[in-house]
Amino acid sequence: MAEEDQFEELPSPASDEGDVEVEREQDAPEELDPETRERRDAALRRVRKLGDPVLRASALPVERFDDALKAEIEWMGELMHDALGVGLAATQLGVLNRVLVYRAFPEDPVTALVNPVLEWTSDELEVAEEGCLSLPAVHVEVERAERVRVRAQDETGQELEVEAEGLPARVIQHEIDHLNGVLILDRISREARKEAMRAMREAQETASAA
Ligand SMILES: [Zn+2]
Repeated sequence: MAEEDQFEELPSPASDEGDVEVEREQDAPEELDPETRERRDAALRRVRKLGDPVLRASALPVERFDDALKAEIEWMGELMHDALGVGLAATQLGVLNRVLVYRAFPEDPVTALVNPVLEWTSDELEVAEEGCLSLPAVHVEVERAERVRVRAQDETGQELEVEAEGLPARVIQHEIDHLNGVLILDRISREARKEAMRAMREAQETASAA
């Protein structure tokens, strides 16, 4: 359940140098101006990383559409923006609410989905590279449905239906996975998983040696 104190700063392993993962398909621009980099690092420090049990928990349906929920959604959107991510699930911030935000393309508005349910997925699948704000330095090829239809609610409780294809569809599936305690590591082969874990360990070692 969401409690105010879960919004406070949470310690997490530092991974601020070098190839920090953002939850998007492309890498972050190699050279960020110092201010953008600082904001991104600060946002990433708030994101729970692999090893935190909350990432394996199933989030609970939201029943109260109140100011606290609005504040939570706004905060998630800001963090996602600062982290240069394309999506973020509440569980990644230690909040067990079924809430996700996404913005697949910079020109899009931030969309929040509360209590999202994958109502339909296309038979056509697509493989593409994904990263995850909770898995620094990990890039893996993940197979997903190319198109989805999602039923959800907005921040006021209004029912909404979203149809998406390509990147937005991928991001939505990735974030709904988070709400079920599922990570991209669970959607790849054992070999690929080993390699991903190795990349993450190396990035951590590099960061702590720096
Ligand atoms: Zn993720």
